[in-house]
Amino acid sequence: MDNRGYYGRFGGAYIPEILVATFDELSEALARAKSDPGFWAEFESVMSTYSCRPTPVCFAKNLTDHFGGAQIYIKREDLNHTGAHKANNVMGQGLLVQRMGKRRVIAETGAGQHGVATATMAARLGLECTIYMGAVDVARQRPNVFWMERLGATVVPVETGSRTLKDAINEAFRDWVANMDTTHYVLGTACGPHPFPEMVAWFQSIIGKEARAQMLREKGRLPHRVYACVGGGSNAMGIFSGFLDDHEVDLVGVEAAGEGVDTGAHAARLASTDAQVGVAQGYKTYFLQDRDGQMRHTHSVAAGLDYVGVSPILADLHERGRVRFESATDREVVDALALTVRKEGLIPALESSHAFAGAFREASRMRSDEVVLINQSGRGDKDIFTVADAFDDPKWRQFIIEKAEAYRAD
Ligand SMILES: *Cc1c(COP(=O)(O)O)cnc(C)c1O
Repeated sequence: MDNRGYYGRFGGAYIPEILVATFDELSEALARAKSDPGFWAEFESVMSTYSCRPTPVCFAKNLTDHFGGAQIYIKREDLNHTGAHKANNVMGQGLLVQRMGKRRVIAETGAGQHGVATATMAARLGLECTIYMGAVDVARQRPNVFWMERLGATVVPVETGSRTLKDAINEAFRDWVANMDTTHYVLGTACGPHPFPEMVAWFQSIIGKEARAQMLREKGRLPHRVYACVGGGSNAMGIFSGFLDDHEVDLVGVEAAGEGVDTGAHAARLASTDAQVGVAQGYKTYFLQDRDGQMRHTHSVAAGLDYVGVSPILADLHERGRVRFESATDREVVDALALTVRKEGLIPALESSHAFAGAFREASRMRSDEVVLINQSGRGDKDIFTVADAFDDPKWRQFIIEKAEAYRAD
């Protein structure tokens, strides 16, 4: 990264003049934290009692036998508090906010996972918290809204535009501009203007640091390949960063092919030809947009991967050939999830199941002395309605529709 936050030709900070001082303040606080070993020690210590760190690496013996190829290991980020790697990022930013002396955090959320994670952190650290959420998403995600409110957060339903995530982002930025002195914006992934990609990737690097040491301890060697799903790119950067300098380790990012990369209904930025380099949302990367720069509609069975942009750090690693990008369709992902549940008794999130699908496709063609590591970014309990729908069992479907309606009813 250069001193303006560029990774190769990607990244940067395209922000309104009024926010420049706030971003500078954040960059300085981040630089101070990075050069202070006490900060990382505090982060690890908090995460070890509050969020099950270090998360284990688990040998998937049954899946390994099933494919009859590479030995399959799984990094268990699903065991974090609130069920995903998001806990690492929100707590890291929370500790930084405390050092900056700010008292209030804001965030935007789509499916609600990042909102819930941010609200738990705010409750724990005694920070005021406001979560912006499109009104459509508020109605779709009653259980998450319920918990955010119990945790003490103010949930603001955004009624403008399409009343979904991108409108919530606009509102959150408006709030930040009005309250810069007291407030920090907790961005949820390794995207957005500099220094957010650097900061989020740094907090998530705890995954890769642990995983590298665990593989050496348990296997006496590094994995041949590491797989992670890619939404904004934070869990992928987290685990990849542990192996970036080990050139013999292949790093594979798996994006959402949705209904197929030729159908238009997908969210594959780096593994399709539908994305163009552009500047939006304050940074430069590949966006799923048409030639006129209009953002396309994206689709994935996994809400957390349904995003038009991608981390500028991953865009650069793609261009430099250090990370290979693949994609998995909704159908492949649901099959991979079903197999993992049945064989190992693990319930990966639909997002994480993309990484599993990518690994399963290649594992049987690898030798039995080769080792692959899959990042299970989160747990799949939250996906019950979607998965039941995908399995298409009429009995369950009826039950679940009734439950979902009961949630939605006041
Ligand atoms: C949010 C989420 C993702 C996508 O975010 P990244 O920044 O790409 O990691 C992936 N997996 C799970 C379980 C999530 O909750």
